[in-house]
Amino acid sequence: MKQFKIAALAGDGIGPEVMREAIQVLRATEKTFGFKLEITEAAVGWAGIDQAGKALPDATLALCRASDAILFGSVGLPDRDPTIPKEERPERAALLRIRKEFGLFANLRPVHLPKALAHACPLTAERQGGGIDILVVRELTGGMYFGQPKKTEDIPGGRRAIDTMVYTTPEIERIAHVAFQAARLRRKKLTSIDKANVLENGILWREVVTRVGRQYPEVALDHMFVDNAAMQLMLRPTQFDVLLCENMFGDILSDEAAALAGSLGMLPSASLGAASGESTFGFYEPAGGTAPDIAGKNLANPIAQILSAALMLRHSFALHDAAVAIEAAVTTAILAGNRTGDIFNPLEAGARKVGTREMGGAVVAAVHR
Ligand code: NAD
Repeated sequence: MKQFKIAALAGDGIGPEVMREAIQVLRATEKTFGFKLEITEAAVGWAGIDQAGKALPDATLALCRASDAILFGSVGLPDRDPTIPKEERPERAALLRIRKEFGLFANLRPVHLPKALAHACPLTAERQGGGIDILVVRELTGGMYFGQPKKTEDIPGGRRAIDTMVYTTPEIERIAHVAFQAARLRRKKLTSIDKANVLENGILWREVVTRVGRQYPEVALDHMFVDNAAMQLMLRPTQFDVLLCENMFGDILSDEAAALAGSLGMLPSASLGAASGESTFGFYEPAGGTAPDIAGKNLANPIAQILSAALMLRHSFALHDAAVAIEAAVTTAILAGNRTGDIFNPLEAGARKVGTREMGGAVVAAVHR
């Protein structure tokens, strides 16, 4: 029987509430699909500071190193102890540290708007077509955010700020492989985003992605300038399957695409490191944060956390059937009218306002069915 080790780091705010539901859903698939998950929970964020004096306690980091994947909630509570310096606060001391430690270079953000939630989308029904289903693959460790030189200096008559956009062929190749492999599991269409009309980086990006694409003849590849892509996402989002972006373009376009789904509570994400054999170490978390305004009240939508667990099964453990089953179970729970506050519209016929636990329970029941 296949076995996998998971570090479950719920973190702060709504983290523990939504993690609890995701673990229950994982346990349900374990029985149905016949694999074993060793899930160990550990403290991170303010919970780590309270327990061990550090946002990423040594024991938590050791657990992550000994695991096949990290299922993460979210960290950070803006109102807690303002005297703690920002380097020691959870967002930097835990999140950035983990990204660096595990070389997480590929960020995957699926944006799926089920037809039943059409009301949550800011676009007209006509523009939503048969439903929006896009995967944004963003390079996470290169480009403008990390290139050197990066500085602000005095010059005669004022100051000058310099950021440098740098990509090497291997960096583009490895993220392109991630995107093509993801496209192969979806509708087999990849749109690579660049600015090849203006940037040297864009020309190299397009060349390398085209070359890598020859290894994936079953995936249809096209290229689009980033400014056009920003517009097309609003005008005709249904044309996209997988969008492949460098770091900064992906940062912007993934948030634009996320707006199409209407609520942060619906959006999972995956950050992947290098693959070794069949498995890939990954870090899986909801797109939203700790939502302190609704924490501890059974109000949070657990779907982003549950879908993050599905991404983990797919991308780190290659358990594709179980991942699909979780995604289908989420759709079933939505179609049955279950709505947490963030996706509830009192005018929607058949919609029923439910809490975190009820929504999680509806997904578990649908997995068992
Ligand atoms: P947030 O994402 O926590 O909340 C923004 C809004 O979305 C809130 O109204 C919240 O109630 C709502 N929301 C978010 N997730 C939801 C869910 N699952 N169900 C229903 N509603 C949901 O962003 P914020 O308020 O700007 O940040 C709060 C804290 O979270 C900050 O400390 C921030 O640094 C941290 N944060 C952490 C992560 C992370 O751990 N990866 C990501 C973003 C923000």
